[in-house]
Amino acid sequence: PWETPFRSLSPGIKKILFSGETYQGKNTWKGFNRIVANLYHKTGSHDFRSELGKLLSPSACPQCSGGRLNPEMLAVKIRQKNIADLHHLTVARAYDFFKKLKSDLPARFAELSREILEEILFRLDYMMRIGLDYIELDRRASDLSGGEAQRIRLSTQIGNKLKDVIYVLDEPTIGLHERDTSRLLDVLSDFRDRGNTVIMVEHDGNAIKKADYIIDLGPGAGEQGGNISYAGKFISPDQAQKKSLITRAGFWPYISRKSSRNIYRERLPGSAGSLLLPGVNIHNIENIDFEIPLGRLVGISGVSGSGKSSLIMDYLAPAAEKYLEQKKSAKLVCLENGKPSKTPPFLALGLIDQSPVTASRRSTVVSYMECFDMIRRIFAASRSGREAGFSPGRFSFNSSAGQCPLCRGLGFREIQMHFISDLNLECESCHGKKYSREVLQIYYRGKNIFDCLELTVNEALSFFNGHERIIKKLFFLQQTGLGYVRLGMHTGNLSGGELQRLKIAYELSQGSRGVRSLYLMDEPTTGLHFSDVECLIGALDALVKKGDSVIVIEHNPEFLSNCDYLIDLGPEGGAGGGKIVVCGTPDEVKKSGKGFTAEFLN
Ligand SMILES: [Zn+2]
Ligand SMILES: [Zn+2]
Repeated sequence: PWETPFRSLSPGIKKILFSGETYQGKNTWKGFNRIVANLYHKTGSHDFRSELGKLLSPSACPQCSGGRLNPEMLAVKIRQKNIADLHHLTVARAYDFFKKLKSDLPARFAELSREILEEILFRLDYMMRIGLDYIELDRRASDLSGGEAQRIRLSTQIGNKLKDVIYVLDEPTIGLHERDTSRLLDVLSDFRDRGNTVIMVEHDGNAIKKADYIIDLGPGAGEQGGNISYAGKFISPDQAQKKSLITRAGFWPYISRKSSRNIYRERLPGSAGSLLLPGVNIHNIENIDFEIPLGRLVGISGVSGSGKSSLIMDYLAPAAEKYLEQKKSAKLVCLENGKPSKTPPFLALGLIDQSPVTASRRSTVVSYMECFDMIRRIFAASRSGREAGFSPGRFSFNSSAGQCPLCRGLGFREIQMHFISDLNLECESCHGKKYSREVLQIYYRGKNIFDCLELTVNEALSFFNGHERIIKKLFFLQQTGLGYVRLGMHTGNLSGGELQRLKIAYELSQGSRGVRSLYLMDEPTTGLHFSDVECLIGALDALVKKGDSVIVIEHNPEFLSNCDYLIDLGPEGGAGGGKIVVCGTPDEVKKSGKGFTAEFLN
C-alpha cells in the first residue's frame, strides 16, 4: 500500500510501524523505534548519530515518572514528600519547607539535624538573595539563561572562605530586575570584603555606580572603540562635567538619573483601542483579565519569574496568531471605544525575539536588510564592471560565476572531525574573501566588493554617499545601535540582543506597509549600552508613530520610563507572582509606590 499517505493509516497500523510485530512467535518487523535506537547506539559516526538524534526527544521515564530513583528510595518521605517531590520545588518553596521543618521537629531530631538544616537553609537563602528564588531545584543547567547560570555558579562560591580569588563576570545582571540587581551587588561586595577581586563587564547603571574602580572603554563601538575613555572611581556627573568627561558615548550623561534628561520620546496618553485578554490561565497566572493599550509603547515589567514571558510569549503571541486567522478559539478581543472592534486593529504580528533569523551560513547583515542587490548593481554598473561585462549576479558569493571556486563562496573550508566539532579552515584560494579573482578586480570608489562588505555600517553610510536607497536602509541599522557592525557579517555571529535589533531595523526599513502591526519583544535592551538604549527607544517610537503597537518585556528602568503604559507583574517570582501589581503610565506607576518597579522609574 505505498499509495496510502502516512496520516491515513489506522492507529493500529501506525503502532505496528513504530513498535514492530511478531507473527507466530517470530519477530517479523522490528519497528522504527527499535531500528532507530539500535542505529543510534551502535553507529560509530558522530554525524550520523547527531542526524538520528533529531528523531529522538527526551520524555519522562515511565517507571519513576522522572524521579530518577527506584521505588524503594521514593518510598522514603519527609512530611509526605519524597526526594523527587522536593526536587521539583522552587528555591523559595524549598526554603519555606525546610524552615517549617526546622521549627517543628521534636527536640531529639532537631538536635541531630540542626547542622544540616542550617546549611541547607543558608544556601537556599543565598540563592534567593541573588534573585534565583523562582528556579526549581531540578531545573536542568542547559535550560538556564546566561545570567541565571552565572548566578548559580556564584552561589556555589558561598560558604567557601577562600580569599585572593579573582572572579570574572560577564554581565551577571542580565535579565535581573533592579531590585535583584542590588541584592546581587551586595553579594559581590561581600566577596570583595572577604579579600577577593571581582571584575565584571556591565551596562547596568547601579552596578557601575557601586564599583570601586571603573574602566570605560570606547569611545564608540568597533573601529571607534578600543581606547580607555575613563579609568578611576565613580564621580558625580557634575564633577565629570568639569573634567569634560561627558561625551555622548560615555556613560556619564546616562547615569545621573535626572528625570528631565532621561526621557527620550514624547509619551502618548490614552490609547487607540485595546487588547482584552479575559481570564488568562497560564503557568503562575491564574484567571486574570488583562487589558493592554494598542498603538502605544507598552512595557511589561516585574521581577524574574513573575510571569512576563508566560503572558506575552506563551499566551498573547499564539492568541494573536489565532485572532489573525479569525479562529473562533482566539482568546483575545480587540476593543475600540469600549466596544469590540469591527475591523481588526492590527493585521500583522511581529515576534521579535532573540532566536536566530535563518540557519543559512550565507545570510549576512546586508542581505538580511535587502540591500545587497543594490550594492551589487552599483558594482556591475561601475566602469570596470561594465568593461568586464559582469552582471549584478556575478557579485554574489552565492552565484557559481562569482564565488571562489574552491570554497564555493563560504570563505572557509569545513573539515569534518569525528567526536569533536567540525573545524573551519580559511580557504587557501581566496583567503576568506569568498569571491573569484576576476570579481575582486572590479573596483568602485577604490574598493572591491569584498572591501565593501568589510565596511561597518557607519563607514558605509559615508562610502555610499549619494545612493539614497542604500543609505536609507543602513540608517535604520545605525538607528538601532548597530552602526559598528560590518555589512558582510554573518547573522549567525550576532549576539541575541544584536539579532533582535537587526530584526527591528528590518521592520522599520519596511516602512508602513499599509497594515498595522503588533510587535512583541523580549528584552531588546539586553547587552545594550546607555546610548544605544536611547537609539532603540527612538526606533520603537518610530514604529508607534506610524500606528503600530509595541509590547516589550523589559527590566531596564530607563526603557520602562519611556513607555506609554506599564503593566507590572508580580509581586514575586514563581508561585508568589502572576498577578498585576500595578498598571498605568510610568508616572502613575511611580506615584503608586506599589511593587518593586515603581521606585526605579524616572
Ligand atoms: Zn526511571
Ligand atoms: Zn575560497
